[in-house]
Amino acid sequence: MKMETEVLRNPGQVHSEVARWREDFPVLRETVHGKPLVYLDNAATTHKPVSVIEAEAAFYRHTNSNVHRGVHTLSQRATDQYEEAREKVRRFINAANTKEIIFVRGTTEAINLVAQSFGRPRLTAEDNIIVSAMEHHSNIVPWQMVCGQTGAELRVAPVNEAGEVDVEMLGRLIGPKTKLVAITHLSNALGSITPVKRIIKMAHAQQVPVLLDGAQAIAHLGVDVKALDCDFYAFSGHKIYAPTGIGVLYGKEAWLDAMPPYQGGGDMISSVTFGETHYNDLPYKFEAGTPNIAGAIGLGHALDYVSSLGIGAIAAHEHDLLEYATGLANGIKGLKIIGTAREKASILSFTLEGVHPHDIGTILDHDGIAIRAGHHCAMPIMQRFGLAGTARASFSLYNTRAEVDALMAGIARVQEMFQR
Ligand code: PMP
Repeated sequence: MKMETEVLRNPGQVHSEVARWREDFPVLRETVHGKPLVYLDNAATTHKPVSVIEAEAAFYRHTNSNVHRGVHTLSQRATDQYEEAREKVRRFINAANTKEIIFVRGTTEAINLVAQSFGRPRLTAEDNIIVSAMEHHSNIVPWQMVCGQTGAELRVAPVNEAGEVDVEMLGRLIGPKTKLVAITHLSNALGSITPVKRIIKMAHAQQVPVLLDGAQAIAHLGVDVKALDCDFYAFSGHKIYAPTGIGVLYGKEAWLDAMPPYQGGGDMISSVTFGETHYNDLPYKFEAGTPNIAGAIGLGHALDYVSSLGIGAIAAHEHDLLEYATGLANGIKGLKIIGTAREKASILSFTLEGVHPHDIGTILDHDGIAIRAGHHCAMPIMQRFGLAGTARASFSLYNTRAEVDALMAGIARVQEMFQR
């Protein structure tokens, strides 16, 4: 893939660019409890560069109108900008055409859409869907719901001690009655990268389609849906420097064409009478109601921003931060890294002996350091490791080694307080 060669760029060269990248994010100048903000909760949501903030504001200042409806000029401008954003998404993930790009609220809505429009009409009590043990609740509960509605079985591929999906076992779960494999591309709880290409090949060999939960992967790995050959790909804008409330479902046109609409309403129809309704073409069939127009435009700008830095340069920098943090964390007595997969990106999940993760998070917050503490909406994988939760630092393009040092110093203070 193009990105893999870019990642090989000299990380030292990338470092010097980070100070410049940081300038693009106004919120990084905030202080918290009188300390400079050290924001290490990027897996929950990322901050927004000026270009995205300004694009949203500019839409409301200069264009604001509904899309696909008006003959007036502003409505046409709004429609053009909204559709231009769709084209930017298409290009960013290398989809074949814009019919395959559905704007949704986020990953959660994208997966619910597939569960109800793809899953529900196809599933019977004989069928099954496969997920892994390290899914976010967004890639578990929609499947449990559709299994409840249809009687189908939800099968769970195990994860080993390192936090890697057991691909052999997953292969053995796939059978003639498997209707879908739905799996995370990058675990938000552990940072493990799933060997999705291998899994997709394996599933396709048995004519089973694959959905990838790309909520985390989209900002860190570089996604090429054609190269992956996935059937569905779901992601949220807010994890890749775009506003909240906008996300994308990519689906292969043939699948989307064959699926009924998810919701009914305006924009998703071509004609309506009380006798019968004809649905609109793709992608509008799945976009009932007024969409998040400003959000979609913001997403387009966020993808432009990421492309201008280069996803490869970003990934190389984040990889350096993760390696650096992992090395330091391994030297801390009483700290245990949860998730030691060979392939990882941007997430350091850990526990401290004798300290509840929430206490770690609260004490670090006093130092201006934002991390996540808890089950990360992935309770089953926490149960797999016998934990109620972990502390999680997650890195992004604007983080620095100095911030990792601040985190480690903060952890030392937490330990001191609990040893007293
Ligand atoms: N899947 C994964 C792996 C995630 O990390 C998240 C967000 N934490 C989601 C799904 C859900 O994303 P959203 O809340 O934006 O719909």
